[in-house]
Parts: sequence; structure tokens; C-alpha cells
Amino acid sequence: MSVFLNRQLAGLIPYTPGEQPKRGEFIKLNTNESPYPPSPRAVAAAAEAAKTLNLYCDPSAKALTAEFCNYYNVDDVIFGNGSDEILAFCYLAFCEKEVAFPKISYGFYQVFSDLYNVVAEQIPLTENFEIDPATYFNKKKTIIIANPNAPTGIALNKDQLESILAANEQNVVIIDEAYADFSGFSARSLIEKYNNLVVVGTFSKSRNLAGARLGFAVANTELINDIALVKNSYNPYNVNAVTQAMGAVSIAEAAYFEECVGKIVAEREKFIEFLEQNGFYTLPSKANFVFTKPAAASGEELYEYLRSKKILVRYFKAIPDFVRITIGTAIEMDAVKEAIIDWRK
Ligand SMILES: *Cc1c(COP(=O)(O)O)cnc(C)c1O
Repeated sequence: MSVFLNRQLAGLIPYTPGEQPKRGEFIKLNTNESPYPPSPRAVAAAAEAAKTLNLYCDPSAKALTAEFCNYYNVDDVIFGNGSDEILAFCYLAFCEKEVAFPKISYGFYQVFSDLYNVVAEQIPLTENFEIDPATYFNKKKTIIIANPNAPTGIALNKDQLESILAANEQNVVIIDEAYADFSGFSARSLIEKYNNLVVVGTFSKSRNLAGARLGFAVANTELINDIALVKNSYNPYNVNAVTQAMGAVSIAEAAYFEECVGKIVAEREKFIEFLEQNGFYTLPSKANFVFTKPAAASGEELYEYLRSKKILVRYFKAIPDFVRITIGTAIEMDAVKEAIIDWRK
């Protein structure tokens, strides 16, 4: 640390991303990406858009916005360089002093709280790793909830979400839907009913575009304009032309998207059943990963064993009994199952 660093940042602990190993070195099930590549049409659109990179991109992403609003039947959207950037914009726009989020959730919420000098209340989960809606009533501070939550995979249903929204009329509630496409429910349908709702989403998990960096927020126009105020005061060209083009094709190609999500959900259900038959305790996931606990070993032991078999999963020191395993292709999941069956034979 230099003597010149802003003293407010002296104690800041940055987010630790999951390991990104050399391609092909591991079966990579550690950061919840899609195992399927972008579609050939999306790749072709990227090559075409690359020819325009001498010019600045469209700061309002008009073509992508039109495609998105039409497909999802929403009035307004704003895009970011990943949903992490959208969350950062939301912190600047809506978090003046205090914010509340689940104690076990996406690690970036605490990092943003520290970065933007916002006091964070971490609300405990129940003993079953669930979010208890009542613990979010009348908070009078901005709320952020990942739904489905990470790394548990457990989702609140529509009624539970509505109870939180209705009991927080005085503050914004941000629902981070990074995994919602695997759950069958999106809070987008509640935007017209609740003027305090911001729904954040990403193309990184269900839309095969983690490396392209594309996230979004949907909300009523007033809230979107607030986020746009921050975006346009920070980086109007935040989503590059190649990414905008790939995003538009991803939305237009609904069949490819649905096929990829369908395969992942089917593999998830089979894998949960396999784990149960092999004595693991697995939380009821609605996401593209499972959070699971082996019967007579720690999460770290399972992590290290799978790593030795060239399978990379995620282990969190704070929840040492569990590992988080991203759902991959059928072939990848067969390799994981085989490794688990061989474990300690
Ligand atoms: C992956 C993830 C994000 C960030 O996604 P990007 O769009 O790639 O920045 C945000 N929230 C949660 C809960 C996530 O798991």
C-alpha cells in the first residue's frame, strides 16, 4: 500500500473471485458459468461488431434495449459491464447510509458496502439456510437479496418476496436474480406493483456470456433514470459494442437459451438425487449449482480430493462443511459422479 492511497480505503478487503485456471486443465465447476458456449450466431455477431470498434459504442445500447424490452415485456432496462457494475451503480444511487443483506450471500455485497462507506447489516439465515422474510420487514434501509440465494441455491417464492416489498415502502429492495432463470420465477412481474423494486440480472450464468460482461437492471422508469444518472456520471460507454451485439443475439435466440437452461436444470435434478443416494446433505437448489455436504468428511477434504481428480469446485472457509458445485454438461457431471463413487474406496 502506498502512502498516497485514500485513507478511507486502507482496510478494504477486495472480493476474491473463484480461480480461473488455464483452459482445459480442469473440469471447471467453481464459478457458476454456463458449460455451453455462446451460439454460433452470437459469435458471428461479435465478429461483425468487432469491425466497428474504431468508433465508440452506443452509450444507450438501443438495439439491445429494444430486443430485451420486447422479449421480457418491460418498459425500461439499463445495462452494465456485468451485474457487478450494476450493483455498484445501485450502491451509489440508493445506499446513502445503511444497507441490509443476508449474512450468507454473495460476497460482493460486503465489499461494495466497505468501498462506498455504507453500514451493512448482515441478517442471519434460519438454521436450514433459508431467508426468513419477516427479518426484512420495515428495515428503513436499502435491502439486497439474491434470489435464488448464493451459495445456498435456495429461493424465496413470490408471496415471500411480496411480503418483503410491501413491508419496505420507504426504501429500495434490490433483488439480485443472477440465477433466476434456473428457478422458473422472476420478480420482474412485480415491478408494476411495487415502486421500490429493482431487479438485477446477468448474462453470465444462464446466457453463456460470463466473459463478455453483461448485466442489467429492470425497474420503473424513475428508478432506471436514477441508475442511469450514476452510469452516465461514471462511464457512459460501459458496455462495449461486441458485448451489446452478442447480448442482442442471445435474447433473439430464445430456443438456444431455453435449451441450455433446460439441460442444466435436468442435470441439477439428477445430480441432487445422486448426492442423496450417496449420503450427502444437499440444500434444495433452484440455481445452476448445488451446495452440498458429504456425510463423513469436511467440504475442504472433498474440494481437495476433487481437485486431485482435476475437478474444480468452490469451497468457502466460512461454511466449512459444504462445497458448491456448478452444474456442468452431462459428461462433466458423469465424471464428478464417478469421482465421488471412487472416493475412499
Ligand atoms: C455471478 C453473480 C453476480 C455477478 O455476475 P456478473 O454479471 O458476472 O458480474 C452477481 N450476483 C450474484 C449473486 C452472482 O452469483
